[in-house]
Amino acid sequence: MNVELVAIGTELLLGFTVDTNGAEIGRMLADIGVRVTRRTAIADRTEDIRNAVAEALARTRAVIVTGGLGPTRDDITKHTIAELYGVPLDFDEGLWAGLVERYRRAGRVPVESNRTQAEVPRGATVLPNRWGSAAGLWLEDRARGLVVMLPGVPLEMRNLMEHEVVPRFRQRASGTVIRSRTLRTVGVAEAALAEQLGEIERDIAPVTLAYLPQAAGVDLRLTVWDVTASQAEALLAGAAARVMSHAGRAVYGAEREDLAAVVLEAARRRATTIALAESCTGGLVGARLTEIAGSSDVLLGSAVCYSYASKTDVLGVPAEIIAEQGAVSEAVARHMAEGALRRFGGALSVAVTGIAGPGGGTAEKPVGTVWFATAMDGDVRAARTVFFGTRSEVRERAAQTALRLLLERLQEMRER
Ligand code: AMP
Ligand code: MG
Repeated sequence: MNVELVAIGTELLLGFTVDTNGAEIGRMLADIGVRVTRRTAIADRTEDIRNAVAEALARTRAVIVTGGLGPTRDDITKHTIAELYGVPLDFDEGLWAGLVERYRRAGRVPVESNRTQAEVPRGATVLPNRWGSAAGLWLEDRARGLVVMLPGVPLEMRNLMEHEVVPRFRQRASGTVIRSRTLRTVGVAEAALAEQLGEIERDIAPVTLAYLPQAAGVDLRLTVWDVTASQAEALLAGAAARVMSHAGRAVYGAEREDLAAVVLEAARRRATTIALAESCTGGLVGARLTEIAGSSDVLLGSAVCYSYASKTDVLGVPAEIIAEQGAVSEAVARHMAEGALRRFGGALSVAVTGIAGPGGGTAEKPVGTVWFATAMDGDVRAARTVFFGTRSEVRERAAQTALRLLLERLQEMRER
């Protein structure tokens, strides 16, 4: 079953409101195997509503519209669609009584304009709304197909979808699902990752693969359509295994998993502890780790050392090395990592020092240059990366990379 969504509201086009309804409905329908083939956003204008709904019906014969069901003059969805279907609006005494009762319980009386909310296109099924005053409407005829009208208020839309629309759609859908699985990667850019994965799309068909790049890494989203739930699980598991075999080292988690949580769990399984030394990230690595409850059994401490003097005083970085090689250098990163272990104890540390920009770059050390070092058992390793992006993106990417380097060192240790 294919469905189009039409979001009605001038505020959506002006950008005051984001069409979160469309995203939510998409997720809910995917779950029951109903494919959303198109989403349209339009203004509260009769002509636009009529055209958008008529065109969508011509393509799929099933449309869900949200918005414009309120009591005010800009709410014209119902009138317009009734006209399109060639049916009059009938005043529904039962719906009106319910509305009056709803107001009475709140110690209020509905105003005259509320009466429009009790009008129902002839032949439509009322989808009762216990969460607000605008009922949903289900209008269907042989010639045009089905229009489901839902209020724009996200809470009301969500409840009507869950209690009224999804159960009805489930009966019509074929018992198949649309399922996705996300693998999260870090440390490999989108294009390089695509090279690593090669012609994987062929191997994993009918599962499809989408690359979803963000500042902190690329998510790989696998999706399969029109199969049963158990087929979907098997197909996605097979495809995920394929992807892992090509990009295994870059993948750190699934779905919405946070790299910081993965690092903490890896450290816990090895009964190990972590210390940090941060310059350009200014505490972001520590913030990422401490955001997760229970991090105190792994993270011992973090030194945010921005000035030369603090790097020397707190972490013991020799002043002459800073003077000779600069604060953003391999040697300083190495000394910072070792200094963090001396300061806080712990088995493993990571240090970050870089130029987040927008100023401070040179030809030799451009903005985005970041040196990292990890220290464990006297084995100190350094790495340099030059990140693209704004100051905040450079900092976010540097923090994510520090977490990745921690994870790599942890993975070398045996689990207990
Ligand atoms: P309406 O049903 O058009 O009176 O809309 C009621 C409220 O829901 C308004 O505050 C809208 O901004 C909000 N709203 C309408 N459409 C959407 C949408 N597609 N996504 C999220 N919020 C919406
Ligand atoms: Mg509106």
